[in-house]
Amino acid sequence: MNEREIRCPADGTLVATVREFSREDTVAAIETARRAFDEGPWPRTPAVERGALLHRVAGLIDRDAKELARAESLDTGKRLVESEYDMADVAACFRYYAGIAATDDAGRVVDTGRPDVVSRVVHEPVGVCGLITPWNYPLLQASWKVAPALAAGNTFVLKPSELTPSTSILLIRLLTEAGLPDGVANLVLGAGPEAGAPLAEHPGVDLVSFTGSLATGRTLMAAAAGTVKRVALELGGKNPNVVFADADFATAVDFALTAVFLHSGQVCSAGARLILEESIHDRFVDAVVERASRIRLGGPFDPDAEAGPLISAAHLAKVEDYVATGLGEGAVLRCGGRNPHGLFYLPTVLDGCHAGMTVVRDESFGPVLTVETFTGEDEAVRIANDTDYGLAGAVWTTDAAKAQRVARRLRHGTVWINDYHPYVPQAEWGGFKQSGIGRELGPSGLDEYRETKHIWQNTDPRPQHWFQP
Ligand code: NAD
Repeated sequence: MNEREIRCPADGTLVATVREFSREDTVAAIETARRAFDEGPWPRTPAVERGALLHRVAGLIDRDAKELARAESLDTGKRLVESEYDMADVAACFRYYAGIAATDDAGRVVDTGRPDVVSRVVHEPVGVCGLITPWNYPLLQASWKVAPALAAGNTFVLKPSELTPSTSILLIRLLTEAGLPDGVANLVLGAGPEAGAPLAEHPGVDLVSFTGSLATGRTLMAAAAGTVKRVALELGGKNPNVVFADADFATAVDFALTAVFLHSGQVCSAGARLILEESIHDRFVDAVVERASRIRLGGPFDPDAEAGPLISAAHLAKVEDYVATGLGEGAVLRCGGRNPHGLFYLPTVLDGCHAGMTVVRDESFGPVLTVETFTGEDEAVRIANDTDYGLAGAVWTTDAAKAQRVARRLRHGTVWINDYHPYVPQAEWGGFKQSGIGRELGPSGLDEYRETKHIWQNTDPRPQHWFQP
């Protein structure tokens, strides 16, 4: 049996030693989930009772929020206060799906025009769900999948990132404590190609829902084709933050920092492309650089820290490589651009960028802001849409009509106007283009986990005599 040491990226402290699962272990978990779906009570439990269980889970998350947040910060290195916000969002996600689980479960009656026919469209659970999550928001991303999957009556196998498994382990314990029947919630730990791959390949899995990088998403989609299973993908982003000259200057500067440097840029919706109207470029970049240079880096429990480390040495090397490539392609380094110590990377601003550069096109997933300029609304939209991704973006202007026009033209799944980053479980989240397939959160987030079935009942059947009339 292989084991993996989980170490806090801020200082290398040993957090836990966890078991690494093999492919065979994951297949066994899939078989357990299959039996629980085909023979167990959960898919046949009334939706209101499923909702009641999810409510209990939300209460348990509130009860254990401090312990969960601490575990999340130790695994990810993110500031404790950020993990605390995440846990509140996790509980809110469970409460939201507890509430909508029952509301439209009865489906709808269709008027066929025939009085002898009862026609109903009903929702049913998809079946066994393979849920694969990343390391940047471990429990939050798991909750976006687990809560709707359970609300809809599915069973699942969850595979968290091998780097950050702790809160997923704790979640499974809370689900058991809340009264979830045996075999419904299954957890496998370990590396993607071993513990994760069967979730995309195995015929016993009906749906694979994945959050992670574009490269892994492509691999999983190809692997899932063999059994034509449903695929839901939440992939990366290269998100434009468009600032017009008429925007509230100080607020737009402030949010430009939050947009990209939150969690040291390890956010799928990070506003990593600052796209400025030409006339404010110099003043705006000066203001961003001045403040970015003062961001204090530190560990999760350092009260003075404003941002934490990168997740791993491999990820740090990737970020360093992107910055070096950007400089090689002609970007101008305005601040940061180096590793001060450990796994930390200084908030970095690269000016003089354009959409042809690798550092602008690819997701660096680090604290790296690239700056581009535009003149006029059409060029702003063209540059903001000039990416293979389409996850999120923002537009800053005090002209409400212009804000709406630009928001509608952006080919991104979430658009903020005069804001950056907020989301609510009631509203869908997901990507256009190569940022993914499908939507999490909102009513669509529940639909991902439901099949739709039409039941036609002839209440007065008689011979039809289509043949030999
Ligand atoms: P990753 O793709 O490296 O890994 C994600 C998960 O997939 C991990 O659990 C990993 O073990 C697993 N995995 C890897 N190879 C696999 C395989 N062959 N078969 C099955 N599973 C496999 O991503 P990451 O580095 O953990 O996360 C960062 C990425 O996640 C970024 O690209 C980020 O944009 C994206 N992300 C997207 C969203 C969103 O909502 N769209 C949210 C968070 C993160």
